[in-house]
Amino acid sequence: MNEFDDVLQVRDLHKEHGQGQSLVRAVDGVDLDVPTGQMLAVMGPSGCGKSTLLHLMGGLERPTYGEVRLAGRRIDNVSERGLARMRRRAVGFVFQAFHLVEELSAAENVELPALLAGSSPRAARRRAAHLLEQFGLADRARHLPWKLSGGQRQRVAIARAMANEPLVLLADEPTGNLDTAATLDVLRLFEDLRSAGQTLVVVTHDERVAATADRLVSMRDGMFVDDTRLAVRTGRLDGLIKLED
Ligand code: ADP
Ligand code: MG
Repeated sequence: MNEFDDVLQVRDLHKEHGQGQSLVRAVDGVDLDVPTGQMLAVMGPSGCGKSTLLHLMGGLERPTYGEVRLAGRRIDNVSERGLARMRRRAVGFVFQAFHLVEELSAAENVELPALLAGSSPRAARRRAAHLLEQFGLADRARHLPWKLSGGQRQRVAIARAMANEPLVLLADEPTGNLDTAATLDVLRLFEDLRSAGQTLVVVTHDERVAATADRLVSMRDGMFVDDTRLAVRTGRLDGLIKLED
């Protein structure tokens, strides 16, 4: 396997917050390779460092020590400008609380990342329309976020995260605010993205989300304590959906 088969590579990663008495080792020596097209789930108790790890992998925070490579290129030590550019083009973030721009319609929210990355308004509109259609939201395109259900808002947020065809989609508790039906909608969407070869890293407390992943790592006190390759995935989501019937 050559190094670019692992789209995301993490080496001896550390992140400390504060100092002295209040020093917190949020991430304390993580090594990880994520192959292209894998869905990785990260679980662990509150405060164990999951969000920090995700932020480090997507360049929202810089490590205290260690390396993060995206498609073979270091992102932990690039300039602020380089990092901002990388974030816009190479990673998509999805958050528990959606973080949509409330003044913009669903379509405008999805257009925004492409515009910020330098796409023409026309290309951004076309991409947003395509994603909203693909995500079953074509009839919601003109709605402001407050007019959408939680599940619809999260699907808009995922569409926005996919706007620039990121190398990795990073999701932090994406179903944390959703009911069962909306959770299954998001899982179906992740499944579709995976079928199309999308790499996904999902932090979750939800066993149902973890069960659809290819691989599950458990974190505790900033470290991985367990690493499980899940069995052949075929039909796993079907099983979950039947459970809900
Ligand atoms: P999780 O997402 O697993 O709940 P976090 O990554 O948010 O965990 O936090 C890991 C640890 O780092 C926690 O003890 C948290 O309080 C601490 N932490 C996170 N961000 C900061 C920060 N900006 N300043 C100080 N401590 C922080
Ligand atoms: Mg968190």
